[in-house]
Amino acid sequence: MDSKDAMETDPIVSSDAPRVKRGFDQKVFVNRSLTLENIKCYGFDMDYTMAMYKSPDYESLGFELIRDRMVSIGYPHELLRYTYDPSFPTRGLVIDTTYGNLLKVDSNGNILVCSHGFCFIKGEDIHKYYPNKFIQRDDTERFYILNTLFNLSETYLYTCLVDFFTRCTRYTKLLKGYQHGDLFMSYRSMFQDVRDAMDFIHDTGILKERTIKNLEKYVVKDTNLPVLLTRIKEVAKVFLATNSDYNYTESIMKYLLESNAKSGSPKKSWHSFFDLVVVDTKKPLFFAEGTVLRQVDTHTGKLRIGTYTGDLQHGTVYSGGSSDIVCDLLDVKGKDILYVGDHIFGDILKSKKRQGWKTFLVVPELIKELQVWEEKKNLFEELKRLDIFLAEIYKHLDSGSQECPDIRAIQTRMKVLTYRMDMSYGQMGSLLRSGSRQTLFASQLMRYADLYSSTCINLLHYPFNYLFMAPPVLMPHEVAAQNSADFCSSELTVTNNIVTMNRS
Ligand SMILES: [Mg+2]
Repeated sequence: MDSKDAMETDPIVSSDAPRVKRGFDQKVFVNRSLTLENIKCYGFDMDYTMAMYKSPDYESLGFELIRDRMVSIGYPHELLRYTYDPSFPTRGLVIDTTYGNLLKVDSNGNILVCSHGFCFIKGEDIHKYYPNKFIQRDDTERFYILNTLFNLSETYLYTCLVDFFTRCTRYTKLLKGYQHGDLFMSYRSMFQDVRDAMDFIHDTGILKERTIKNLEKYVVKDTNLPVLLTRIKEVAKVFLATNSDYNYTESIMKYLLESNAKSGSPKKSWHSFFDLVVVDTKKPLFFAEGTVLRQVDTHTGKLRIGTYTGDLQHGTVYSGGSSDIVCDLLDVKGKDILYVGDHIFGDILKSKKRQGWKTFLVVPELIKELQVWEEKKNLFEELKRLDIFLAEIYKHLDSGSQECPDIRAIQTRMKVLTYRMDMSYGQMGSLLRSGSRQTLFASQLMRYADLYSSTCINLLHYPFNYLFMAPPVLMPHEVAAQNSADFCSSELTVTNNIVTMNRS
């Protein structure tokens, strides 16, 4: 996402182009095997899936609109000094609305990173807030998970608020908020105000209006998108299911699909790329009981009165509905659908868990994740070696042993390596891991997304009869058996907090 021009390219592939090995940034990764030939229908989300927003310009716009809204409802003018810093927030963080902390957690709710404003809380200090270094993340009243790329701007704004009030001498910092004279402002009320400001910029249409006014600045135009959709439509059905309203969808899809037409080729309406277009889907509700299905008058953008009960009509746009209605209208079963979206909860988890659809998660951050991984994988290799080394130290001890090995040097080294890895990604570290531990986002990605890639355009690099094979994954006991065989020929030394392993 950070390379805003990288995707504005000519169509990649013509069918007679010489075969080239797919680079990592062109690959689709597989959690569960999937035969593309069996897919009879492809569904797409729009925002951050087909329409990639340019980072950090788009998040900066969102941040400034929320910040200005906060000031207009009474927050101090000094907040206007803050500007968006893309190096700070990572998707998938959790806000603790009781203590105002920003947390990065693993799939069980164990805390990996904790910050209060821009101040990182370490070791024993974390235990003061969280005695077990753990959160009950199902407590959605208290913990709010920032699941989408739209959330990045509010994540950063909340951090700025905590930073401002903590440092401002007019306010006294208490455990659950700030005191100013006889006024108490809780972290929870600040969070609610940020959420309301976020809803305000979405519901009033300010963010959409500003985006549409300057599409080239905020939306990535990829000439491969119409190529992909045209090719898919030759072999399967295609639908669009977006939470956005009709007028916004029309502006974005026109920009992405119609203004891309090569000179000389006949002008094709964006509607014609799809068998079915559904706006205002209200995902995740769409994957459950859904809402009333209505027709959209495409001339006025207004909804027709009454519930639509007829057959599918080409070129008709619908509003609301549910995933069951989509299956009925298109005459397909859930297992025959590959749904492509960027929202781990609203698009992927719900469509997989409730409807059994096949899922493709778009993770734009993968480009940077892969780049850092390539550059820093030696740090991870060292972490892995330390892990084996620790196991080796305890190998000859049992419940009768009095010996107490000193492993402090190794633990310190592991912390240093984890910190260095985290910092290579950004201030809150990687979207997917902290050192050797995986984040909640990573575990959900592996559990619910059959396929994932940095962009849906990467489907262009695979034939429509492709068999995506999941790599065999070893369980811990199998890994241990394999490692112990490899380890026999190794020699380890520890000096001044540095552990080295010399393979013979
Ligand atoms: Mg989306």
